[in-house]
Amino acid sequence: MTAILSLDVGGTKMAASVLLSDGTLLSKIRVPSRAAEGPDAMIARLIEMAREAITEAGSRVEDCGISVGGPLDPVAGVVLSPPNLPGWDRIPLARRVAGGLGMERARVRMDNDANACVLAEQRFGAARGRSDAIFLTLSTGLGAGMILGGRLHRGATFNAGEAGHQVLEEGGPRCGCGQRGCLEAFASGSGIAARLRERWDDLPAVLRARAGRRDGVSAGHLLACARDGDAGSLALWDETVRRLARGVANLVYILNPEIVILGTIAWHAGDFLLEPLRRHVNAWCWPSLTHRLEIVATPLGPRLQELSGLAVALEPPSS
Ligand SMILES: [Zn+2]
Repeated sequence: MTAILSLDVGGTKMAASVLLSDGTLLSKIRVPSRAAEGPDAMIARLIEMAREAITEAGSRVEDCGISVGGPLDPVAGVVLSPPNLPGWDRIPLARRVAGGLGMERARVRMDNDANACVLAEQRFGAARGRSDAIFLTLSTGLGAGMILGGRLHRGATFNAGEAGHQVLEEGGPRCGCGQRGCLEAFASGSGIAARLRERWDDLPAVLRARAGRRDGVSAGHLLACARDGDAGSLALWDETVRRLARGVANLVYILNPEIVILGTIAWHAGDFLLEPLRRHVNAWCWPSLTHRLEIVATPLGPRLQELSGLAVALEPPSS
């Protein structure tokens, strides 16, 4: 039985895994990305790590799926210029991985992380059997992968799903993309952290004490303090959830999904995030759109990292 190589290239971590097509994990190696070293050094380490993972798995590997931050061109296999990967500009990642590993170029596929995640959910997770599903990464950034009418929706230039950059408030907080008031600036991990840094002097004492220093404050600190019942932290958490709910409600009005699946932060926060989120979305959207709507955290948890690349490799190339 041949196995499949799954590569995940992110701004903070990279991983190479070898799996069977049913999701069975044979080997996995993870390293820090050291993104500041630029694409050549990162790709060399990625290929070296992939070779090690293949050797450890002891299986023949002919197919590879890569999950990487967009924007990118999945057909040409070219990474354009992701904001979290400095120095990457029109990098033919699929060709370089194929060349480095002696694979056929056509058998190395890639897609952006949000699309890769929704494909993994469709094959292994909460979107199984669903024809209309949205996955929101809700991690450092906030992107959407969308299954519409049973198929991955990529858009005219492969960039559909940049849902984090819908503007919720003109003149609002600065987003990493250069605009102001984007959903991502309010509700992603990096956006929440930036807002907390801005308001550091006015933050609840409990939250400042838990974070230790201004530059280290994160969404995780806010979640922990809110869960402990600190009133000031709860107010900030509630504000964040309301912003996220606005973004989700907009997507529900436009796309009428059966299920909205949320990634990292929701996986950690569980019902502490999901219950108020569902309440807001149900209050703001028409019942005709919400009576069958489910809003859940990913059931795949940390396995999403290896399953997303696998799902990209298993997706028929024409879609
Ligand atoms: Zn933005």
